[in-house]
Parts: sequence; C-alpha cells; structure tokens
Amino acid sequence: MRYAFCFALLLIVISACSTVPVTAPAVMAGSKPLVTFIFDDGYETDYTVAREIFRSQGEVACTAVTTGWVNTKNYLSVPQLHELRQDGWEIMGHTVSHPNLRSLSESRIEDELFRSKEALEGWGLPVKNMVYPYNKNNETVRRVAAKYYRAAREGGKQPNAPDADPYDLKSYSSELSFWHKMSDIRGHIDRAYSEKKWVILYQHMIDAKIKISDKKGSFVEDEQLTFMPSGAVGQFIKSFLWSMEFVPLSGDPQIGDTVTGESSGASARMTDVYYNERAAITEMIEYIHSNYPEMQIVTVDQGLDLMGIP
Ligand SMILES: [Zn+2]
Repeated sequence: MRYAFCFALLLIVISACSTVPVTAPAVMAGSKPLVTFIFDDGYETDYTVAREIFRSQGEVACTAVTTGWVNTKNYLSVPQLHELRQDGWEIMGHTVSHPNLRSLSESRIEDELFRSKEALEGWGLPVKNMVYPYNKNNETVRRVAAKYYRAAREGGKQPNAPDADPYDLKSYSSELSFWHKMSDIRGHIDRAYSEKKWVILYQHMIDAKIKISDKKGSFVEDEQLTFMPSGAVGQFIKSFLWSMEFVPLSGDPQIGDTVTGESSGASARMTDVYYNERAAITEMIEYIHSNYPEMQIVTVDQGLDLMGIP
C-alpha cells in the first residue's frame, strides 16, 4: 500500500514536471508572417513567365533591375517594366552594371546606386528599395544605400523581424538544385509562419531543364518549342545529347511528351524533369495559400510598412 502511494506521488511529480511550459520564441509586437518573391537582374522571364503566374493567383512580386541591361536581349524592356508595375509589382534598383559593390571606391558606389535609381525614375518608374548585386555589401555600401533608398536586400538566410536593419534585409535563394529542394523552401516558409516573420525569397531567370532521348535534328536558339500531347509551350535555350534547357512559357510539360522546335523541325522525347521553375513558383504560392491563408505575399515596400520597419 505504501509503495502504491509512493508510486502515485512519483507520477504526480513527473506529470507536474512535464507540464512546465516550453518557452516559445518571443514574437515581437507587430510582427507578421509575410512572404516576398524577388526576381533579380531584370530578366525578360519576369514578364514572359512570372507575370502570369502571380496574376492568375492574385499575387504580386518584385523585379530588381540592373539598369544597364534594360532593353537588351533576354532582359526586360521599359514597356514591360511599366506593365509589371501596373500589375502591382515593385520595381527595385540593382545598380547600373552589377558590380561587387564591396570592391568599389565610395564615389563609384555612389554612381552605381544613384544613377540606377535616376535611370528608372527617368523612365517613369519610381523606385524605393534595392538589392545588392551578389548580395555583397559592407558598412560603406549600406551608408550610401541609405542616402538613396528606403531599404536594401542581401542574402543571409534568415527571416526578418520588425527590428531588422532596413539596409541589411535577409533572404534565401528559391532556386532549386540537387542541394536545395522544394522541401527546403517549404521549410523557410514554415519557419517564417511559426515565428511570425518576413521571409524574402529570390531567384534569377526562370527556366526548366529536362532529360531527353531520341533527339532528331538540331534545335535553334530562341525558337518556340511545343510539347505534345501535354500542349505545353517553351522557348529553346540549349540542349546536350541527353538534356535540354528552355524557358517554360506555358502549360506543364509531361514525361513522355514529344518536344518539337517550330522553326528547326527538330524533335526529342522528354523522359524526366530535372527542374521546372515555372511549376516550382506555382507550387510555392499554392503551398502558402493552402497551408497559411493568413500569410500575406507582399512587395518589399509593403513588407517594410506591415512590419513597421522605418
Ligand atoms: Zn544580380
């Protein structure tokens, strides 16, 4: 009987100990779960691919434009930038010539940051925020950025809280590779949601890479590709004996499709997908919508306002 009593007492002590609350990470007042998508460098695929993905989901994104590349092959034109802006996209600065700002003198940094902003504004495109090329910056770069911009983004692989330094906004790459999978990106979103923080995801040109067999003929650069029977359409970039890269313009190419070049007449069979960034971006947005409906997808400028970062 006494043993039973002791055992019961022990159970009470154990259960009391196990109910001691685990301290949750402190959430700062005003912090909210937010996601921002930024496309760096101003590739034309922001317009030809991403625009429709975001528009069809009722969402917006940001394009960080290297002004010296605007109106050149594979990069956005001024009219395309205006259309993105009309859709609610934020146009961000990304210097004139895309240098490593850390390697420049202060006067050259001034030149790159001021003249890129001036060029965009000269085209009628207001710009408030910027992205450091290669995510590289230092104290001098951040000080110059503060003269012309409200905020600037680097890498750093962290979500942002309301006490973030606006000239040191952290971000993660959302480009997929063998080492960086969709599950990792979902993990960045999950963490931002649970910690009520702002996660910024960035990538560059939107493309796809597939495995092919039975290649006949030679595809030519920039020609339109048709995938049958799926009906997907792409724009050819390059191919090797067993693989092909293209811009995934519309639809979702399927394993077993025959891909044909419109002007070359070349063809091949698609046997596997290495990556498809069009499908991946769609999946990221749908993941947020279905799992975290209260998590907002915002531009950088909206994120700063919502987080209360000055
Ligand atoms: Zn860049």
